[in-house]
Amino acid sequence: AKTIPSDIEIAQQAEKKPITEIAEKIGLSEDDLELYGKYKAKLSSDVWNRIKTRQDGRLVLVTAISPTPAGEGKSTVTVGLGQALNKIGKQAVVALREPSLGPSMGIKGGAAGGGYSQVLPMEDINLHFTGDFHAITSAHNAISAVIDNHIHRENELNIDPRRIVWKRVLDLNDRALRHIVVGLGGKAHGMPREDGFDITVASELMAILCLARDLEDLKERIGRVVVAYRFNGSPVTVSDLGVEGAATLLLKNAIQPNLVQTLENTPAFVHGGPFANIAHGCNSLTATRHALKLSEYTVTEAGFGVDLGAEKFIHIKSRSGNLKPDVAVIVATVRALKMHGGAPKEELTRPHLQALRQGMGNLERHLETMKNFGLAHVVAINRFPTDTEEELNFLRHWCQERGVSVALTEVWEKGGAGGEALAREVVRLAESGRSRLRPLYDPEQPVRAKIAAIAQKVYGADGVDYTPEAEKQIDEFEANGWGDLPICMAKTQYSLSDNPRLLGRPEKFRIQVRELRPSIGAGFLVALTGNMLTMPGLPKKPAALGMDVDAEGRVYGLF
Ligand code: ADP
Repeated sequence: AKTIPSDIEIAQQAEKKPITEIAEKIGLSEDDLELYGKYKAKLSSDVWNRIKTRQDGRLVLVTAISPTPAGEGKSTVTVGLGQALNKIGKQAVVALREPSLGPSMGIKGGAAGGGYSQVLPMEDINLHFTGDFHAITSAHNAISAVIDNHIHRENELNIDPRRIVWKRVLDLNDRALRHIVVGLGGKAHGMPREDGFDITVASELMAILCLARDLEDLKERIGRVVVAYRFNGSPVTVSDLGVEGAATLLLKNAIQPNLVQTLENTPAFVHGGPFANIAHGCNSLTATRHALKLSEYTVTEAGFGVDLGAEKFIHIKSRSGNLKPDVAVIVATVRALKMHGGAPKEELTRPHLQALRQGMGNLERHLETMKNFGLAHVVAINRFPTDTEEELNFLRHWCQERGVSVALTEVWEKGGAGGEALAREVVRLAESGRSRLRPLYDPEQPVRAKIAAIAQKVYGADGVDYTPEAEKQIDEFEANGWGDLPICMAKTQYSLSDNPRLLGRPEKFRIQVRELRPSIGAGFLVALTGNMLTMPGLPKKPAALGMDVDAEGRVYGLF
């Protein structure tokens, strides 16, 4: 087999075009850009007013089967499909999330696609990029500082220091900061209390930035964020503290979409990156809306599998932005399906038809969900070098026998040229006008009914159980007037159930909701199943150990 260079080697050899030339492809001039060097730009805030009355192009949603710990190549396929659509003569752009620095230094390395389907400049995108995450970190921590100052200065709002739900954030994996005490050192140094850090992508401000339509909407949403409770139990919001203006000001540039390019010079919006469990896991609405106005095809991605990413794309992001995907792409890999069929992790690179056959239930379940959503869809088989012809044929025939569209995709190895079959199928389905988006619940329904709809219709659960704490919270939230918000499920991505060990297509299981958290600014209620870490730790050998930069500024170890 021929050897493919590492992602960073491919990225460093790429011939990037100046970002002004990339912008021209979507009808934008230098005046429409705020340049961040030669290869990165933000769209200037006047662009929207000029384009907002245009018709939207077509929207392609890329999602996947339940992933393995390595990821199934959704970003890679998203980038590759954008390139492939251009190759077959469609003017297409991609819209992706920005990677978080924490996991990059930890286990992930980088997250900007892979092989010959990447976004560039990959080093910048994986490191500080245009500073959006730093801006979110500052805005978030500014609110924290005001809370502690408020308590220090007589606490007029009667904030209960034991019930402050607004932690601090940092864009790093650092488990030692999960639980801390602040305000030590005596009277002059604040009021001692327990606090903690989350990773920046878990900040509600990140979710808000990604769902807000514009600065005004951003400010209103930030004002509604619940940061604490009073001694009498009533919620305290950012607007009670009077800092929604300052926080919005700190995000004034961050809300503008970032424009970069792929290895084949396809325009790419890389903007926003909320967690896909305690938040909705999609790139920003502002980037998607700009992309739709500026291109014939927008290819965008939602985190994790159909049960999490696509479900939230439809019930949360699409509702906020009135989006209607024309077609969905479900990325599947032979190795993940084998894992769903019981093959051990160490043996995924070896042929194992029996496990593959056993694992198909996972794909089957996600296909049923897509049907329920009313979305035309195609399965993209993301080919790995270790897949055998026999396994690939099996997967293809399995789909064909059931009348499911399927395309083999080799965009990792071949770039856009490896995705033309997928691109043609995407165009055929999108132009057929077959999709009729049908959400599976109505936000007006009671909270328990919404959670049950997701558990039963998307996960295939028999029902939902609640801890006494969750029961109490639902009643409180409904009494606070938060009952008609959509639900953001925080569930393991590895299983359709809430138990990460139940792979494939689990049957006869129930979902347990442990706790609920209000994200009133973002506009959803988070329902937590299992333990969700919002501040990851580093592994024994962090990816950071392999990272370096030489005297010429050449970067190493970002995979
Ligand atoms: P996801 O978006 O699903 O998390 P990514 O697109 O980030 O997945 O890919 C995860 C990793 O797998 C990346 O390092 C990427 O280079 C690699 N990868 C993706 N597709 C392939 C493939 N077909 N063959 C080999 N490696 C791949």
